[in-house]
Amino acid sequence: MFKRRREAREQQELQRSGREMWGYFQSIPTPLEELDEEEARERAAASAAAPEPDTAEPVALVDDFLPPEFVAPSQREMAGLMMPWPGPLVVDGDIVTCSRCETYRDWIVLSVQGRVWLRCRAGHETHEAGLDTAWFNRNSGPMTEEHGSYDDGIRFLGH
Ligand SMILES: [Zn+2]
Repeated sequence: MFKRRREAREQQELQRSGREMWGYFQSIPTPLEELDEEEARERAAASAAAPEPDTAEPVALVDDFLPPEFVAPSQREMAGLMMPWPGPLVVDGDIVTCSRCETYRDWIVLSVQGRVWLRCRAGHETHEAGLDTAWFNRNSGPMTEEHGSYDDGIRFLGH
C-alpha cells in the first residue's frame, strides 16, 4: 500500500514537472563563464592578496528586491503555468476587472510559485489574491503545450 502511494506521488511529481513551462533557467549566464582564464586567475590572486575591505563600493540592489507579489510573471526567471480564460472571471462573487484598463474578460491566468496572476489582453498583470494554486489546478484542463519562455506561451494563447 505504501509502495503504491509512493508510486502515485512520483507519478504526480512527474506530471507536475512535465507541465512546467516558460523556464528561463538556461538563459542566465553563470558569472564564471564570462571571465576568461587570465582574468579569473588575476581575480583569484587579487582576492587572495587583499582581503575584502569593509568599505566596499556601494551596491544598489536593495530597492529592486521586491516581494514576490510585486514581481509580475513576465519579469521573473522561473517557470509557471498558464491557461486562457476567455469569459468573465468571478472571484468572491464579483466579476474581476483589470485595475488599469477595466476589461473584464479575455484573460490569461498564470500560476507562478503559489500565486495566481491575471493578464488582460492589454498585457497588464495583476496578482489576484482571491485565487490560489488549488483553484488554478481545479480549473485548468490537462496541460498540452510547453513553451520555452513566458512570451512564447503568451503568444501561443493569442495575447
Ligand atoms: Zn488591463
